[in-house]
This record gives sequence, structure tokens and C-alpha cells, in this order.
Amino acid sequence: MGVFKVDWALDGPIPFTARECSHAGTVHIGNTFEEIQASEEAAATGKHIDRPFVLVAQQSLFDDTQAPQGKHTAWAYCHVPHGSTVDRTEVIEKQIERFAPGFRDRILAKHTFNTDQLERYNFNYIGGDINGGISDIGQLFTRPVLRSSPYRTSLKGIYICSSSTPPGGGVHGMCGYHAARRALKDIFAHSVKVVSIKNSEKTKSEINGCCE
Ligand SMILES: Cc1cc2nc3c(=O)[nH]c(=O)nc-3n(C[C@H](O)[C@H](O)[C@H](O)COP(=O)(O)OP(=O)(O)OC[C@H]3O[C@@H](n4cnc5c(N)ncnc54)[C@H](O)[C@@H]3O)c2cc1C
Repeated sequence: MGVFKVDWALDGPIPFTARECSHAGTVHIGNTFEEIQASEEAAATGKHIDRPFVLVAQQSLFDDTQAPQGKHTAWAYCHVPHGSTVDRTEVIEKQIERFAPGFRDRILAKHTFNTDQLERYNFNYIGGDINGGISDIGQLFTRPVLRSSPYRTSLKGIYICSSSTPPGGGVHGMCGYHAARRALKDIFAHSVKVVSIKNSEKTKSEINGCCE
């Protein structure tokens, strides 16, 4: 699936009726399980729905460098069919308004991304897929290709991490962690262990030399 994303500049925080939502960095607006299911099923089967499952991030509540004093920022997205260029601004705003009456009155400015624009913004987001491709069981282990180490490339000494490698998209950092371990193992083989980095001057200079 792709996503349609909206960024807002706001005159105040999002006035969620549920108090807990005003203390959350991220709010998943789904209402009932059935509504979430209907929304995801629609996007996966090429349809658009009036009450989409919306993911809202309200970063300025916790980071006052995001907006001038008293003002706020937020963004939200909903899933859409792969490659869809349908404008979903209205339904996303309506869905937030449903749980935060008065939200729309606080909008000062907005910017939107459809799947096409997202793909141009980041070539990895093909068809608007912010996860860089489907994360099924096969992709979990074999992206970008099926090989003994997916972090090695055909060019010796060049490694790849990012969401294009296992375990795939997500803000967990494990792709880089595993790629770094692979590189350390290949370059320093069995002579360097994490413990010896701390204790050996020789190892330190070897590492610096390598990095330079
Ligand atoms: C709107 C949105 C919401 C998301 N929400 C979630 C969420 O709630 N939970 C979740 O788990 N995941 C979420 N994701 C997905 C998650 O952010 C990505 O899967 C993850 O960031 C991908 O990591 P990455 O390292 O592959 O790419 P990125 O995080 O995009 O990192 C790539 C880095 O490489 C840099 N770069 C690019 N080209 C060059 C170059 N030529 N030279 C040097 N540097 C370069 C870029 O500046 C960037 O810093 C979301 C993504 C988006 C877009």
C-alpha cells in the first residue's frame, strides 16, 4: 500500500476529546477494530474509504523547537492503494475532526504528499510505500537479495543497511546494527572483539587507519 500524508501548521494543539490523546506523541485513529479492518482492506484492494485509519503525530507537544510559541505542528497519513493520486486531505481532516471537534479551525497552513510526490521525494517509496516494499515472511530475510549476508554488496568493503535490508522498514535501527556487525566481522575477522577495542591501543590505531 501507499500513503497519503498531510503536514499542518496549527494555531493550537489538536483538541482531542479523549484527554489521553493530548499526551501522546502518536495517535492511531481507528475507532473500532471493524473500521480499521475495513480501511486497511480497502487500501489493499485498490479502494478508497470515507473513514480511513489515520496515524497522527503531534511532535510539537513535546518539542518546542517545532513551532513558534503557542503554535503547533502535526502530520498524519492514511493508507491508500499503491500509486493512488487521489487527494485524501478532506477525509483525513474529517476523521480527526470526528475525535477532536474544532481541529479544522486551528489549521493555519498545510502541505500534502500523494504517493507520486512521496516517491519523488524519496525514490525508495515506490508507489507511496513508506516501508520500502512489502514486509512478508520472505522479504523479512531476503531483502534486497537472497544471499548468505544481505548486508554485503558485490563491491568488497561496501555494505548496505537501511530498510532495504533485514529486518526491513521501521524505526528500530536493527538494519544498521546488523550491517555494522557484518562489516566489523569481515574487516577485522577474528582478531578484534568488542572487548579488545576498549583495551588495546594497537587495535584502536588499526581501526582508525581503516576508517581513514
Ligand atoms: C510519514 C512516515 C511515517 C512513518 N511511521 C513509522 C512508524 O510509525 N513506525 C515505524 O516503525 N516506521 C515508520 N515509518 C517508516 C520508517 O521511518 C522507515 O522504514 C525508516 O526510516 C527507513 O529507514 P532507512 O534507514 O531505510 O531510511 P531513512 O530513515 O530514510 O534514512 C536514509 C538516510 O540516508 C540519507 N541519505 C539519502 N541519500 C543520501 C546520500 N546520497 N548521501 C548521504 N546520505 C543520504 C537520508 O538523508 C536519510 O537520513 C514511517 C515513514 C514515514 C515516511
